Amino acid sequence: MSFVEYSDEIADGDVAVVYLGRESTMAVKVRRGGRTQTRYGAVRHSADLIGRRYGAKVTCGKGGWVHVLHPTPELWTVTLPHRTQILYAADIAAVTLMLELKPGSVVCESGTGSGSLSHAILRSIAPTGHLHTVEFHQQRAEKAEEEFAEHRVAHLVTVRKRDVCKDGFGVTGAADAVFLDIPDPWEAVPHAKAALKARGGRVCSFSPCVEQVQRTCQALSDHNFEEIGTLEVVLRVHEVRTVSLPLPDFGPRVAPVPEAPPLPASDHAAAALKTTTPPRQMPAHTGYLTFATKPRT
Ligand code: SAH
Repeated sequence: MSFVEYSDEIADGDVAVVYLGRESTMAVKVRRGGRTQTRYGAVRHSADLIGRRYGAKVTCGKGGWVHVLHPTPELWTVTLPHRTQILYAADIAAVTLMLELKPGSVVCESGTGSGSLSHAILRSIAPTGHLHTVEFHQQRAEKAEEEFAEHRVAHLVTVRKRDVCKDGFGVTGAADAVFLDIPDPWEAVPHAKAALKARGGRVCSFSPCVEQVQRTCQALSDHNFEEIGTLEVVLRVHEVRTVSLPLPDFGPRVAPVPEAPPLPASDHAAAALKTTTPPRQMPAHTGYLTFATKPRT
């Protein structure tokens, strides 16, 4: 098991994701002889997990069952212990796309936070890329390092404990892309520029408030970044519903169209239609994503 490679079978030492239904998940560190309590009863690691195929349905002590899933960055985002606010799948998808991340990319990130975005970056840049992630909160940096090792991606990432606004990313002229999720990203813009390759690269900054976006755009422009633009990802999931629509009554037919089949009697009253509707309420704003390009120097 690794967060960047798939294996068929659950093994001792893996981190597996237990799916409890209704979008509820928990992470389990698989240990020979270990036991994990779920709301459906206990899962015994040696008997129920080790050697079984990922995706298996496992019956628990109380007779209920769970599915044991191979970890992915997407599952980790909805399972991880929150130490900070985190980025979710919709924003992460836009970031990896717009930063043009691919296998082999070198990426700088700050702050590491809970590592939600970091795992998605690692999966995109594996097996030959590298992530330099900067976090000034000691415990968060240590916990992230621990998790990268447990998830077997430590060889792809360097965690630096420092203030990115004062001390930068610790790399010069090496990055293809830089991502910022800090309260004062404009302070880190000169360091982002220094970290990017001389042939150019992409930068993205995530900020919840538009005043932060304005200051970041100004700093990007002052440092000769190009193609500066801000977008917001708003996910509208449409629901399929059956609705009943009253049909208009155009009065008696005087001259029926020759080929038209006769209308069934029920059609004169109402028709049941399948339709999609946008949600009436939805969590909309997470943050603004500001992107820019450093041109070749
Ligand atoms: N994108 C992350 C969440 C980042 S939360 C995720 O998806 O999980 C923001 C993090 O930035 C916090 O952990 C905070 O400690 C860190 N941070 C804020 N300012 C910083 C700075 N100047 N240097 C380094 N880290 C910083």
